[in-house]
Amino acid sequence: MTTGTQVHYYHFCQRKLWLFSNGVQMEQDSNLVAQGKFIHETTYGQRANKYKELDFGYVKIDHYDAQQKVIHEVKKSNKLEFVHVAQLKYYLYVMQENSIKGVTGILEYPKQRLTQKVILTDKDISEIKKWELEIEAITAQENCPKVIKKPYCKNCAYFEYCYI
Ligand code: SF4
Repeated sequence: MTTGTQVHYYHFCQRKLWLFSNGVQMEQDSNLVAQGKFIHETTYGQRANKYKELDFGYVKIDHYDAQQKVIHEVKKSNKLEFVHVAQLKYYLYVMQENSIKGVTGILEYPKQRLTQKVILTDKDISEIKKWELEIEAITAQENCPKVIKKPYCKNCAYFEYCYI
């Protein structure tokens, strides 16, 4: 099963996807991840009663409003919005695959006071099926993909591993 984290990394950096999926895991040491978790917890701390946590094993959704059928996903910054949209679309796909239909998503950027509605289209579903195949192929490769040399590498938990 493709995990939500793998979908995130597939869009962020295929090298990161490969490293993570092949057991080189450094995220727990990342201050950035800790900051993200802090924002997540403080933003949603008072709303925990309203939203349910859903755990499908390969995908964990922290804040689902079952009454409105909306997944709320909070992020620290909107700089990598395309990655966040892809991950949330995958969550909507997983819900549908598990017979929970008609769900939409809202991306929230509390620092920027921005929100974005995310929906799942038929075109998205075909794309997601391609992502799953590509993720499987990339993680099965013998060699790690090359470094991508993007500005956001400096904020990646694997920065030292890749560049130093
Ligand atoms: S530092 Fe850059 S190249 Fe290395 S895994 Fe992270 S995003 Fe990919």
